Amino acid sequence: MSRIDDLPPLRDVIAAHDLRAKKSMGQNFLLDLNLTARIARVGGPLDGVDVLEVGPGPGGLTRGLLAEGARRVLAIEKDARCLPALAEIAAHYPGRLEVVNGDALEVDAAARLAAPWRVVANLPYNVGTELLVRWLTPPEWPPAWQSLTLMFQREVAERIVATPGSKAYGRLAVLAQWRCDTRIAMTLPPEAFTPPPKVSSAVVHLTALPAPRFAADPAVLERVVAKGFNQRRKMLRAALKGLVPDVEDRLRAAGLNPTDRAEQVPLEGWCALAREVKRA
Ligand code: SAM
Repeated sequence: MSRIDDLPPLRDVIAAHDLRAKKSMGQNFLLDLNLTARIARVGGPLDGVDVLEVGPGPGGLTRGLLAEGARRVLAIEKDARCLPALAEIAAHYPGRLEVVNGDALEVDAAARLAAPWRVVANLPYNVGTELLVRWLTPPEWPPAWQSLTLMFQREVAERIVATPGSKAYGRLAVLAQWRCDTRIAMTLPPEAFTPPPKVSSAVVHLTALPAPRFAADPAVLERVVAKGFNQRRKMLRAALKGLVPDVEDRLRAAGLNPTDRAEQVPLEGWCALAREVKRA
């Protein structure tokens, strides 16, 4: 196997620093550095690019990002046990790796990076969806980030790229596809990780569009979609009851059939409805 850097193999790093994976931290590590280098390249060449990585752990993906030429990596890690291993990587790539010991839901990453930056992360499952929704719903668009390359449980990845009419189609698909191009770039079996999780994983790549596909107020769209899919088996007129006083009229004005179900409504329909709701 070719080597991507002169640092020790990850198994040795984990043994040396006693980094036994903790379930409570959502730790499933990638130890194959050729694989992490491939994930690092999903969004294209990294030369001159600043990257935010959430949850570097022992640093497999971090090493992939740096070996692939990222100008600077900001890595936010909650588990302080990982810091010595990450400090060794920082010493190997002087001035290119900044590690913050903290919770990614609380650290203001944007304040520490020069836009536009990319996000590349093998996310902790317990906070992955929340981080994605935050990245997708800033008040202004385009956002400070250019693209997101994120590892999720495969089922979550499928919800992000889902099309109308499918079971996986819901809030995540609408919010993601409204302002991004989305694709599943890789799927990985449980054995790719140490320890192996129960389910397969997938890397999703999202590229920010210069402007949303259809006009809508982000906060209103979020509210409408959350309510619409909350009771996805009900007809829209029932699922959306109480959203505005005359919901059936709003649905018709948006060109939607009040007896349709949420999973039949395309992106354009949700945006039209958000505009009608805002007008109401
Ligand atoms: N990137 C490493 C890899 O690919 O081998 C580790 C990935 S592991 C799935 C998730 C990592 O996120 C762990 O290192 C865990 O400690 C860290 N983590 C968990 N919750 C976090 C949070 N709220 N903020 C930052 N890091 C977190």
